[in-house]
Amino acid sequence: MLRGFNAELKRVALFTALCLLFGLINGYVLPTLLAGGGLYMFWMLWQIRQLDIWLNQRRKTPPPEASGIWSDIFESIYRLQKRQERESERVRQVLNRVQETTGALPDGVLLLDSRGNIDWWNPAAERMFGFEQSDQGQPLVNYVRNPKFVSYMEKQDFREPLDIPASGNKDNRLQFQVTRYGQNEKLVVARDITYLHKLGQMRKDFVANVSHELRTPLTVLKGYLETFADAAQLPENFHVPLTQMQQQCTRMHLLVNDLISLSVLETEVNLERHQPLALKPLLERLRDEAAALSADKQIISLSCDDNIKIHGVEKELQSAFGNLVNNAVKYTQTGARIHINATVDHYGLRVAVTDNGPGIEPRHLPRLTERFYRVDDSRNSATGGTGLGLAIVKHALSRHDGRLEITSQVGQGSAFICHFPKQRLA
Ligand code: ADP
Repeated sequence: MLRGFNAELKRVALFTALCLLFGLINGYVLPTLLAGGGLYMFWMLWQIRQLDIWLNQRRKTPPPEASGIWSDIFESIYRLQKRQERESERVRQVLNRVQETTGALPDGVLLLDSRGNIDWWNPAAERMFGFEQSDQGQPLVNYVRNPKFVSYMEKQDFREPLDIPASGNKDNRLQFQVTRYGQNEKLVVARDITYLHKLGQMRKDFVANVSHELRTPLTVLKGYLETFADAAQLPENFHVPLTQMQQQCTRMHLLVNDLISLSVLETEVNLERHQPLALKPLLERLRDEAAALSADKQIISLSCDDNIKIHGVEKELQSAFGNLVNNAVKYTQTGARIHINATVDHYGLRVAVTDNGPGIEPRHLPRLTERFYRVDDSRNSATGGTGLGLAIVKHALSRHDGRLEITSQVGQGSAFICHFPKQRLA
């Protein structure tokens, strides 16, 4: 381009020199120069017109013939146009492939703008939510009106996916997974998890039924074993087996009771209305029970303000805090200190059970609330643990919008902290 410009400059200089020479010959230097300038300007305007006509053509044709710098300008624009066409074609192909891929997905995929309005969706999302073209730009919460979904989108905390019943058919379940990208735009994947949900439901029902069915035969066995153990004329060699049978029976009884508690927490809708409960008397009761269990081997203390009240179901909260306090008694050595502490701050209520026992290695901490997870099987069989205690705590807390935080250091002790939001305080 610069070369063309230099050539054009030379051409202008030559043309001016010619005009000057012609002016000197005919004796009209200035008019000849002006006439030459006018001629050059006219040529320039002509080329600009040619460019304008060419650029405004609908169908792109090769550039018109031109000379000098204009030939360079036409060529450069033409090359740019061609490059842009190739780029557009490439983008079109990528877009087609993305659309084909997302079209083949069984999951609904939606793109939301930063305000939560629907920008784009794939065919599966169209089937799931019945979108039409006019729905573009509308807020997604207008179509998924479930209050849980609305507050999930408002809270903007998308670390965990959300499972809710499908709007059209309450028997179907949808799982929403939201990922942020760009300028707070969101990619929403909606998956039909009805089948998985039904399987989970079947598992829960199966465990609940089996536990209930086992309770009665176990009670009968336990009763007979106690009668046999009390019988005076029992032969000497029956004593050890009978004691072992009684121990195993008690263990199974505990296990069945924990399984039933867990399945009630998992399956039962919280029909019982949450009541405002005074926390101190509840914790005092648990402290006294733990002291009886400990038989003065550990030092158990409690601090809780008299006026703290929490909205909740007493049985469930008692089970949650009770499990934590009993664990502290079960898993700490003689002379250990156990402290129950309830405080209110501006986040809400915090109930902590801390001890200076043996502590737990960090690798176990994330798995402690899994069903049947135990740090050390051999040690726990001696304590009579079922491995379900902390799973019960987790479920009972989540039914009260709470969560469990566990911190521990080997050789220093552990802290099990229940956090409840402000709204739970009465
Ligand atoms: P379990 O019925 O076996 O007590 P949990 O779910 O209540 O089951 O507890 C899981 C595991 O966490 C226990 O097996 C135990 O090893 C560990 N654990 C719980 N509380 C404490 C504690 N205060 N100190 C040390 N370890 C604990």
